[in-house]
Amino acid sequence: MLDFGIAGKTAVVCASSKGLGYGCADALAAVGANLVMNARTPETLAAAAARIRDAHGVEVKEVPADITTPEGRAAVLEAAGHVDILVNNAGGPPPGDFRDWTRETWITALDANMLAAFELIKAVVDPMIDNRFGRIVNITSGSVKSPIAQLGLSNGARAALTGFCAGLARQVAQHNVTVNGLLPGQFNTDRIESLINATAEREGRSSAEVRDTFEQRNPAKRLGEIKEFGFACAWMCSAHSGYLTGQNILIDGGSFNSTM
Ligand code: NAP
Repeated sequence: MLDFGIAGKTAVVCASSKGLGYGCADALAAVGANLVMNARTPETLAAAAARIRDAHGVEVKEVPADITTPEGRAAVLEAAGHVDILVNNAGGPPPGDFRDWTRETWITALDANMLAAFELIKAVVDPMIDNRFGRIVNITSGSVKSPIAQLGLSNGARAALTGFCAGLARQVAQHNVTVNGLLPGQFNTDRIESLINATAEREGRSSAEVRDTFEQRNPAKRLGEIKEFGFACAWMCSAHSGYLTGQNILIDGGSFNSTM
């Protein structure tokens, strides 16, 4: 059996009671990593942590907190102690028209989708360097490569994080600390469900019709599953992935049309 080489390591997976974060937590636990899981709602977080504990027998600490706040991040870091693997994630910003956005709108989006990750990276990267092992994965979005007009806040904030991490990755690679991005296309999660429902309402169509349109326009003719996303995360975090850094891997069923 393939050994990912991270059994017993500590992985912090932010925003992981559901969706893509949960997929990453589950996959990391499946290859033996102990977890610190986080989300704001204690009940769903506790249920998610229990499922992973039962399935994989690893140690799972759960920290109900808002990861976009300094207090939330401090609680997560304290629960973890030393962090070997950091998966940054948070809820995505709302869609909208840029004419309505103020400086405060942007600060909220940057706090969630750039600065929370930056602060966590700043806290864990030097101990990772000292330990000669670290894996940092940012869950961003396909919008980093191919902008989605109504998600301008996401386009901007996530591109800023990606740019910062591109430079950071080259600074820390020599210490066996890697920094990469995972860019989801459309995955079957609560977030996509709300997008489907909002689109249906806006266009006067049924949610089932909109879902079908989303599926049919993808070369794979379906949305992604969180297990598929989690597997890529585990691969990026493997002990054997030390030469994979500064990359942004799009997982979208081939939706982004390009030769490379
Ligand atoms: P999801 O299914 O709605 O799950 C979001 C998870 O994050 C939940 O566990 C939620 O729990 C937690 N969370 C949200 N805000 C948080 C906060 N401030 N602090 C701590 N935990 C928080 O969403 P998803 O689809 O997995 O999306 C994850 C990220 O990927 C989002 O940023 C999204 O925009 C991005 N993305 C998703 C897709 C897709 O197709 N699904 C595509 C592109 C980008 P609580 O609500 O209890 O906190």
